[in-house]
Amino acid sequence: MAQSLIQLAQQLRETLQPSRSLSAQPELVPAPDELSPLAAASSPQAHALRMEIIDVGRKLWERQYVDGNGGNISVRLGQRYLLCTPTMISKRDMAPADICLSDFEGNILAGDRHRTSELLLHIEIYKSSLRARAVVHCHPPHATAFAMTGTVPPNGLVSEYETCIGPAALAPYETPGTQAFAETVRPFVRDHNTILLSNHGIVCWADTVTHAEWFVETFENYCKTYLIAQQIGRPLNFLPAEKIQELLAIKRRLGLPDARMDNSL
Ligand SMILES: [Zn+2]
Repeated sequence: MAQSLIQLAQQLRETLQPSRSLSAQPELVPAPDELSPLAAASSPQAHALRMEIIDVGRKLWERQYVDGNGGNISVRLGQRYLLCTPTMISKRDMAPADICLSDFEGNILAGDRHRTSELLLHIEIYKSSLRARAVVHCHPPHATAFAMTGTVPPNGLVSEYETCIGPAALAPYETPGTQAFAETVRPFVRDHNTILLSNHGIVCWADTVTHAEWFVETFENYCKTYLIAQQIGRPLNFLPAEKIQELLAIKRRLGLPDARMDNSL
C-alpha cells in the first residue's frame, strides 16, 4: 500500500509538472499557416512585414530606382501566403492597407487593391528556390542600361560585389506581366540572387525584403562604378583567382548563392 501511494504521488507530480511549466510560458503566437487568410493578413507577423515593404518602397523611390507606378515588392508570410505591393501606386506613397495578401497561384485573398501585375514573376522565383523569402523588382538606371544592351557587367573587380552578388544573370525579353515573362528567370534563380531582365530592369531575391533591396543597391552602384571606370581609359585590374576563392568562402558562410558554387540545398 505504502509503495502504491508513493507511485500515485509520483504520477501526480508527473501529471502536474507539465501544466505548471506550460503556464509559465509566454502566450504563443500562431504561425500564419494555421490562420485563415483574413486572420493571417491581420497577424503581427503580417503587420511587421507590411511596414518593411513600405520602408523599402520609399527607399527605392528616393534612390530613383522606380518611376511612375513601376517596381514591386513581395515577401513570404509562412508557407501558404505572400504579401505584395498593389498595382498602380508610386512606391513612395504606400500605406499598410495597400499591401495585398496572395496565395502562390497569384489569387488575392485579402486587401482592397489589385495586386502587382508582376506577382507571377515573384511566384516563379519562390517556386524555384526555397532560399528566396523576399523579392524586389525595379528599374535602376545604370543596371537597366545594361538590360537594354543585353549585357552583364563583368565580375571579379570589386570584393564586396563578389561577396554579395557575383556573376549576375541575364533573362531573355518577354512581355511584362505574362506567365512567359515570369518563366524567363526560372533557369537562373538557384544560382543568382540578381537577374537582369532584358529591355526592362532587374529583380533581386534574398532572405528579407531589406536584404533584397540591399542587393539592388549593390548591383546598381556596381553598374554605375563600372561605367565610370571604363571612362578612365586604363585597363581594369581583375582580382586574382585565389582571392576570388577567399571571397567565395565568405559567401558560402553567408549562405548566398553563386554560379561558381554548388547551390543545391
Ligand atoms: Zn518592371
